[in-house]
Amino acid sequence: LGQRLSSALRQLSKETVINEKVFDDTLGKICRALLEADVNIRLVKRLRENVKQAINLEEIAVGLNKRQLILQVVIKELIRLIDFEVKPWEPVKNKCNIVMFVGLQGSGKTTTCTKYAYYYMKHGWKTALVCADTFRAGAFDQLQQNASKVRIPFYGSYTESDPVVVAMNGVEIFRKDKFELIIVDTSGRHAQEESLFEEMLEISNSIKPDNIIFVIDASIGQACELHAQAFKSKVDIGSIIVTKLDGHAKGGGALSAIATTKSPIIFIGTGEYFDDFEVFKTKPFIDKLLGIGDIQGLYDKIISLNSEHDKSFIINAKDGQFTLRNMYEQFQNFMKMGSFGQVISMIPGFGTEFMSKNDEQKSQARLKKMMCIMDSMNDIELDHIDGAKLFKSQPGRYTRVANGAGVSLCDVKDLIVQYSQFYKMMERMKGLSKFGNMQRNIN
Ligand code: GDP
Ligand code: MG
Repeated sequence: LGQRLSSALRQLSKETVINEKVFDDTLGKICRALLEADVNIRLVKRLRENVKQAINLEEIAVGLNKRQLILQVVIKELIRLIDFEVKPWEPVKNKCNIVMFVGLQGSGKTTTCTKYAYYYMKHGWKTALVCADTFRAGAFDQLQQNASKVRIPFYGSYTESDPVVVAMNGVEIFRKDKFELIIVDTSGRHAQEESLFEEMLEISNSIKPDNIIFVIDASIGQACELHAQAFKSKVDIGSIIVTKLDGHAKGGGALSAIATTKSPIIFIGTGEYFDDFEVFKTKPFIDKLLGIGDIQGLYDKIISLNSEHDKSFIINAKDGQFTLRNMYEQFQNFMKMGSFGQVISMIPGFGTEFMSKNDEQKSQARLKKMMCIMDSMNDIELDHIDGAKLFKSQPGRYTRVANGAGVSLCDVKDLIVQYSQFYKMMERMKGLSKFGNMQRNIN
């Protein structure tokens, strides 16, 4: 979607005169792109009408940039589809909050439960996981492995086959232990399977969750909407987490699902690692759909904070090149900057909006540690155009660097993961076009 849409919009930005015909053509292109990206046809029609109504080309004052105005209205209408101005449910501190996860098999529930638990744990919450999936063989093992990796207490059973009993037992144990956030993973189901829906209802009635989170896989396209409706008609879905937005997901399906269920998105999943999890923000999501990319924010910030010694960074980023050495230099710059917290919170895998002064210090310490690891790398590694690929194809390098820097193998691997995230971001930043500049101006 991103590419098609942005090419339609870029086309618009090339036109010098915007008359009725150009306007209609462009809107038609945008609508077709949205349809191809699995956005529901009703929504697209509505969007089209709203944009047409909002803009009267003849009435636009001379001097006002018409192209920018059209783009602005399209973005506004897209945002309206998924932003309901209701505050999504949030757990309450010093209280026992029970959250139940539901969704189709394979949508990413178990992974997302862990990401959610890990996210809150990192922000100081006492969290626990309960595996109420007794339907799929190996479900408990999977949750157990996930929970152990992030060191979060978990509960499940190999012998009890009734998910309601397991869920209730797990919740009771953790409630007694004064856990603040108890997360219950349920079995996946296909929308047609009534018996599984009943099971979901029974679990929900017995543990009485404070919130039910529906997990939706962005890559299933049009089907998203039907499934979301089916779930919404059975249980009281409080919020939505959209997963697999890192791949070639057609985000349009998820967008339609959210528009029909009217449940707010709270987080998005952007990868298989437990850190690949972001607080949902409407504008960046829409920007991404339109191919503008969430990189814009970071890019702007870096420019506004320090345009002088970041020139090299920007030049490299524009070419889409980003070596480990570039990352090292960038970290050096970040350390020098006054408003460190602001920048750091925008680096993928680092801070979040919850960031406190304390976290900021931790992030600084983490940056220093990463730089220290990079000090033990050689020029081949630092200057390779894809450092992650180099390390992955020659794992001996991990060990050598770990020994050199006096850190664990895991630390070096984490650093490479971090670098990969950065690298991906730079790829997206490649050719931040004229369109990108235009976008920045209208904000
Ligand atoms: P469940 O059946 O709903 O519990 O789904 P799982 O949590 O077992 O996930 C199914 C697959 O999707 C696994 O291979 C996960 O690693 C993968 N997955 C989950 N979330 C994401 C995501 O955000 N991005 C990517 N790329 N993969 C994901
Ligand atoms: Mg599962």
